[in-house]
Amino acid sequence: MGRAVLSQFLILSNSSPRLSSSLSCGGLQSKYLKRPGFIRPAVNGDNGAGFRCCCSVSLSQPAVPETSSSSVRKRIVSGVQPTGAIHLGNYLGAIKNWINLQDLYDTLFFIVDLHAITLPYDTQELSKATRNTAAIYLACGVDTSKASVFVQSHVRAHVELMWLLSSATPIGWLNRMIQFKEKSRKAGDENVGVALLTYPVLMASDILLYQSDFVPVGEDQKQHLELTRELAERINYLYGGRKWKKLGGRGGAIFKVPEPLIPPAGARVMSLSDGLSKMSKSAPSDQSRINLLDPKDVIANKIKRCKSDSFPGLEFDNPERPECNNLLSIYQLISSKTKEEVVRECQDMNWGTFKTLLTDSLVDHLHPIQARYEEIISDSAYLDGVLEEGAVKAAAIADATLNNVYQAMGFLRRRMK
Ligand code: ATP
Ligand code: MG
Repeated sequence: MGRAVLSQFLILSNSSPRLSSSLSCGGLQSKYLKRPGFIRPAVNGDNGAGFRCCCSVSLSQPAVPETSSSSVRKRIVSGVQPTGAIHLGNYLGAIKNWINLQDLYDTLFFIVDLHAITLPYDTQELSKATRNTAAIYLACGVDTSKASVFVQSHVRAHVELMWLLSSATPIGWLNRMIQFKEKSRKAGDENVGVALLTYPVLMASDILLYQSDFVPVGEDQKQHLELTRELAERINYLYGGRKWKKLGGRGGAIFKVPEPLIPPAGARVMSLSDGLSKMSKSAPSDQSRINLLDPKDVIANKIKRCKSDSFPGLEFDNPERPECNNLLSIYQLISSKTKEEVVRECQDMNWGTFKTLLTDSLVDHLHPIQARYEEIISDSAYLDGVLEEGAVKAAAIADATLNNVYQAMGFLRRRMK
């Protein structure tokens, strides 16, 4: 089962050549690549296990994810911002995949509330959205006997490590982040706080604190993952190894360098009103997305009114028909069919017939999630307990990493009685 599940994912190590070069830090990058432990498999080749790996892979990282039979499980972390209603993009690009991954990996899924304040937000809504997001994780099938579920701000180490990492982050790396450019353009200068620029460093902290092996993300986060990897390499180079040992530390790498795990389909669910923009919580129009908690009639209405085209029939992968590709892809993922099955079923359909089919499968798929959500959100003692337990487990791992970083960076540690 493990292989079957994981072969749906694409592992991108040192993922994008474009980013690797743009993020290289004055010769450091090439130094890392010359260190023993790096191999270069066939570019864009299949590694024989159904994964497509690009560029170089560190031997300290697995070329093929290990299954539950491994004695020590590899670790995965991921999270969603409580910035609004969770939508199909968050579900298909992230949360739905976590359900399979929690059987195979040591998993930590958190609600990244500290990221939610990077743009103007409503203080009256933040804690509510945080609880709702946690309840959605559980309703979608995140199982607390397998995964730790917690709120990012409940584990202080996230912010502390971010500061330490910031000191080693060249500002040019952050200026290049596409999400910063897009979000700051949309927000307008007056509303752009420093945190919008520096939040990828917080994201690096979120990941590196837990010595994560893999991070399942949608394509919109690939660039931030790349920055995390570069930053881990940079800190390991600047403060790890013999320098750390001389300070009484363990020596070696301070951080594991994580790999992005990207599902080939659903990695980027597009807006219902524009097949070229991604579906987003922060997009102003609610018509642009299907929220996981949307009632049946709202889903029907959104699908009915969503953008389509006037070409005959339906097809995947026609660049002139991004909306058609997006809606077929959503249908494929929601109905758990193969692309070929969807082509056979839908190629001769008109929009009216297909939209009814898509609406019905969305409603059927989301109904049990919505029912579970209602149960969970109405039991606040249970939800608080889950989040408390998750934070305790997460803090134990995070504090160990943070202490190592303080030590390697030469800080005088406070004596504890
Ligand atoms: P915001 O607009 O506030 O940034 P968002 O919709 O982009 O919200 P995030 O909380 O930033 O959602 O992302 C949570 C997770 O969902 C991430 O793993 C991200 O890659 C994934 N994700 C977000 N949008 C999409 C999408 N349209 N398709 C696939 N995955 C997505
Ligand atoms: Mg986002």
